[in-house]
Amino acid sequence: MTALAAVTDGVLVATHEFCTTTTTVIFGDDDGCLVVDPAVTASEIDALAAEIAALGRRVAAAFSTHPHWDHLLWRDALGAAPRYATAAGARAARACQAENRRKALAALPGLDVSGLARVTALPEGAATLPWAGPRVEVLEHRAHAPGHAALLVPDAGVLLAGDMLSDVEIPLPDTAAADPLGDYDRALDRFTEIVSCVDVVVPGHGSVGDRAELRRRIAADRRYLADVRAGRPVDDPRLSAGPDWLRQEHAQLVALVMPGQQR
Ligand SMILES: [Zn+2]
Repeated sequence: MTALAAVTDGVLVATHEFCTTTTTVIFGDDDGCLVVDPAVTASEIDALAAEIAALGRRVAAAFSTHPHWDHLLWRDALGAAPRYATAAGARAARACQAENRRKALAALPGLDVSGLARVTALPEGAATLPWAGPRVEVLEHRAHAPGHAALLVPDAGVLLAGDMLSDVEIPLPDTAAADPLGDYDRALDRFTEIVSCVDVVVPGHGSVGDRAELRRRIAADRRYLADVRAGRPVDDPRLSAGPDWLRQEHAQLVALVMPGQQR
């Protein structure tokens, strides 16, 4: 794990070895801070908690961007603050606890999975996070997972994308949804609307980018989705250079969208 590094004033990001997962910390009022998707291993999360304390901060609130196990981790070292999720995200985290536990332990045996259902549901349709700090807007959508939300911090110009807008992962639509590609399009449309508010984009997996990089990633994701829809071969370095599990996800999506085709 790399230590927390400032990406702009009052916003720090740590990047972890497993799937280039990121953890984001946003400074709030007084000595509080908001922790988004703390990850991954017990020692990394404990080190994160120690680093936050060394900065003279306490965890005032937390947020889970979506109900997949690697975005639902928690350790006592982070304290007792509420870890919010959208209402749909919290429902799914509770409903999928056993599945998340199985997937987490398969990915990283021995992982601390005690926090997987430790979520506080926001009111249905909540537009902001209830916390003492800069305004944090909740951009809920249906791409990638039920109840997924990106967070926009307008004053800092920061967009926390959850599992979208990655430079290392292709779009991963929620194949269990009724309209996986349409859901993904609509989330990208939402990000397109706010591009001019964003100076820094932080994906849940991958590297931090600037506004030009945000535009580039939106375009790359739209190109990928258009190719999948059209049944064209996908020429995307994230796929060709990616791990096997990513190529399997791609093959599953192709099979779902274009039955009978495998690329
Ligand atoms: Zn995910």
